[in-house]
Amino acid sequence: MLSVFVHLWQIHIFDQSNIFRAAGSKNKTKEMKPFFFLLTFLLVSMLGYGQLQSPDQFFPHKWGENFTPHEMRIDYYRHVAANSKNVVFQPYGYTNQQRLLQLAFVSTEANLAKLEAIRLNNLRRAGLLEGATDPSLDNLSIVWLSYSVHGNEAAGAESCLKVLYELVNPQNTASKEWLKNTLIILDPCINPDGNSRYIHWYRNVAGTTPNPSPNAREHQEPWPGGRVNHYNFDLNRDWAWQTQAETRQRMVKYNEWMPQVHVDVHEQGPNSPYYFAPAAQPYHRYITQWQRDFQVQIGKNNARYFDQEGWLYFTKEVFDLLYPSYGDTYPMYNGAIGMTYEQGGIGAGQALTLRNGDTLTLKDRVMHHYTASMATIETSSKNTAQLNKNFSDFFNRARTNPPGQYKSFVIKATNARERLKTFCELLDRNHIKYGKAGKTSSLNAYDYQTGKNITLKVEPNDLVVSAFQTRGTMAQILLEPAAELVDSLTYDITSWALPYAHGLESYASTQRLDPDGAFTFSTNNTPSNAKPYAYLAVWRGSSNVKFLAAILKKGVKVRYAQSPFSVEGKSYARGTLLITEGDNRKMSPTYRSVVESAARQFDQELSTVSTGFADGGSDFGSSSYGFIQRPEVAILSGDQTSNNEFGQVWYYFDQELQYPHTVLDANRLDRIDLSAYNTIVMPEGRYRLTDPIVEKLSAWVNAGGRLIAIGDALPALQDRKGFGLTRYANDDDKKKAERAADEAALAARLLDYAGEERRAQSSSIPGAIFKVKIDNTHPLGFGLSDTYFSLKTNDLAYAPLKGVQNVGTIGGQLMVSGFAGAKAKEKQKNTVVFAQEQKGAGAVVYLVDNPLFRAFWENGKLVMGNAVFMR
Ligand SMILES: [Zn+2]
Repeated sequence: MLSVFVHLWQIHIFDQSNIFRAAGSKNKTKEMKPFFFLLTFLLVSMLGYGQLQSPDQFFPHKWGENFTPHEMRIDYYRHVAANSKNVVFQPYGYTNQQRLLQLAFVSTEANLAKLEAIRLNNLRRAGLLEGATDPSLDNLSIVWLSYSVHGNEAAGAESCLKVLYELVNPQNTASKEWLKNTLIILDPCINPDGNSRYIHWYRNVAGTTPNPSPNAREHQEPWPGGRVNHYNFDLNRDWAWQTQAETRQRMVKYNEWMPQVHVDVHEQGPNSPYYFAPAAQPYHRYITQWQRDFQVQIGKNNARYFDQEGWLYFTKEVFDLLYPSYGDTYPMYNGAIGMTYEQGGIGAGQALTLRNGDTLTLKDRVMHHYTASMATIETSSKNTAQLNKNFSDFFNRARTNPPGQYKSFVIKATNARERLKTFCELLDRNHIKYGKAGKTSSLNAYDYQTGKNITLKVEPNDLVVSAFQTRGTMAQILLEPAAELVDSLTYDITSWALPYAHGLESYASTQRLDPDGAFTFSTNNTPSNAKPYAYLAVWRGSSNVKFLAAILKKGVKVRYAQSPFSVEGKSYARGTLLITEGDNRKMSPTYRSVVESAARQFDQELSTVSTGFADGGSDFGSSSYGFIQRPEVAILSGDQTSNNEFGQVWYYFDQELQYPHTVLDANRLDRIDLSAYNTIVMPEGRYRLTDPIVEKLSAWVNAGGRLIAIGDALPALQDRKGFGLTRYANDDDKKKAERAADEAALAARLLDYAGEERRAQSSSIPGAIFKVKIDNTHPLGFGLSDTYFSLKTNDLAYAPLKGVQNVGTIGGQLMVSGFAGAKAKEKQKNTVVFAQEQKGAGAVVYLVDNPLFRAFWENGKLVMGNAVFMR
């Protein structure tokens, strides 16, 4: 607080001294200055307001001249808050690197005085809160603008400075009008860590005069770049899953406020003209006609201002409305007008020469964002009644006539409680209601496991999500087996069905079924024996992996069952963790409190037995229980890896498992002694591994190491000496593939140019779910059922490998949810998805599909857990 006052004081002095000089007497200046300043300061403090400064006045640089670091921007926002009655700031948390996250609420003083009443009224308007709306508050809508979710798209956060200033500037007559019926919520920077990574780097490498040459160092941002947050996650893919700290904290606020309009302010490649609404196809079918129409209305008003200035722009292309975890779709699926705005500018620094010879300056970029932001607020303010009515209607439709084919979703109570819990947590985070069926019934239903329509017997304890609820649209979008596509040309994955992601036996029905009573989880077994012979812990969900990581980290010795067994009248599956007094004598009795407290922390099903004598299967001393050698994990990183995908692995170990690991730069593999590690994870990437490095890795595996290669990392090991991964199963297949490629190239010679984009699609998999057959007798498949639904995000395809355990495979009959091109699909027939090659004393695990994609594929986390720990 003190520092703020000191800062304000300094600023006031600076200002007044200018005025004083302008006014006159040079002679008196010297002697009178300190007294005058003090007097001024006291006066200003007493009056409280009236000293509001523009960004130009406040910062050492002019607005748009250079990037303003986050901390300096926070200083400015504090200054505005202290000097304007039209804004209230609310901190909502901190980033991973402890930077402040905050929202600015901007409106008239009268509106801000009843902020909480406005909020509650708005929730009542949606039907998210009981009770009638207050007519005196009805003519007011909420417009939320978010800046720089991609941190290196830094003109966004920069433009917000002026947006805020002009909204509260007493001289601005236009914005004064808007505030009367609009509450504007500004998130000045969604991703301060990424934004700071970019800005600090840029200020480090830029000279005094900006260099507009695209080759200049200041336009070549190094890996991992400021787009992503601390863990290299793309926060604009995380709205629904809410895996990241920034998203989780923000979404609490978003759901408290539920705006009618949300703008997500981005940047794109510097040569692209400005992009604003209306968005491109494919639209999700559940987006209402009104939402589409109003996007056009907003776009036209933006265009009016851009036309006046002669600025280029485009609409209706590239940025579609499908994947539900974006800053435009998520608001759309929650009743708002959600939009992405894109300024050309990534990597442009303060100035960049464009292909047309023009120079794009930071000032241009911030002016465009500022203009689009203000125009959007204007359109919204002029259409408050319509916005509010259609916002209400959106939720009404869900409650009375939800748009999708499937009206209810049944998740069997017999699913593993660990999986059910993670699933319910995700529903909770998205405010989707669920309950138990309450009674037995029979429904026509789609079986997610087989893709067939069946008659389902619903049991009283089954979990039911009805689409007939306020958030019914979002429930349908997240749960449906596949999205209903208008068009297949998309930017992102086309399927995300939660029952597949969470590995849950589930059914979707076109018939209505409302839950009857709260869903309760089966109670977990708690240790009943003070000094057990052994603890037995289940292995079937991602929380079990967390439990194992926690106790291994503390030095507890653990084995796992390679075959089913029964003891004291109860049966246990493969993968069951076995923690015996015998293995932990050195740590006894403390190991017991470690195990029991970890079990409580992760809500584990943990049983105790007083004998190691098995009724069925092997006794506990048998070598058929594998001893888990504590993984000493290294993760490859650096510019040979993809930033997002490296981040997913890093996040998995650092945050989800909180398990010790070392991040290595793949560029230094030749210099590192690998013997300190027994596990190396190769995240997806484009590796440039030389022969000596491949030999080094091969020798390290032979000596007992475990190399886990994911997705795009596989080609780096493919057909390399010492590794069993081959592109083709045999020479015949290779010849066949080459011949087919040749024929296709010949046939394509006379095809029209215009159809190229669509033809390219036929070979692509933007992201679709494939059914995979699992050999769950192999440790890599432990805890899974005999099927696994895998999210494929690329078209890598390997035939089952020779001399290797092919644990996850796709057969000749495909079952696919979401869009995959016809040729790409054909290529996936009879391929391997997960495999393990025993090599010397070690092993190589090939995960063709990335099981940690965006940290939301819960069932994949178990696969990764198997790859790391089941050894
Ligand atoms: Zn972006």
